[in-house]
Amino acid sequence: MKDTFNYVADGTQGGVKTVASAAGQGLAEGMRSAGGAGGEGKVLVRCHKCTGENDASAKFCDQCGAALAKARPCVNCGELNDPDARFCDHCGQAVPPADRGPTRR
Ligand SMILES: [Zn+2]
Ligand SMILES: [Zn+2]
Repeated sequence: MKDTFNYVADGTQGGVKTVASAAGQGLAEGMRSAGGAGGEGKVLVRCHKCTGENDASAKFCDQCGAALAKARPCVNCGELNDPDARFCDHCGQAVPPADRGPTRR
């Protein structure tokens, strides 16, 4: 009984010590590798007309003035298409021109 208790106590202490040191090493290595990756890539949108790079939030190309925002929802599948797209990227549905305004009656 006494022997068993001592054995368990020793084992527990050793186990705790091992786990603690292992966790500390793992944490240190994780922080080291995480710190290595520095600087997040800036998101850019490439103009489909002049291939100039613009900020992701830009709505018009600062090189040629072409519209950049994908704001042409497909009536069939809802996919957003390029401003001058005539057919849906996703399903091929014809996309009505946006600059015509509402269809007249
Ligand atoms: Zn452009
Ligand atoms: Zn579609």
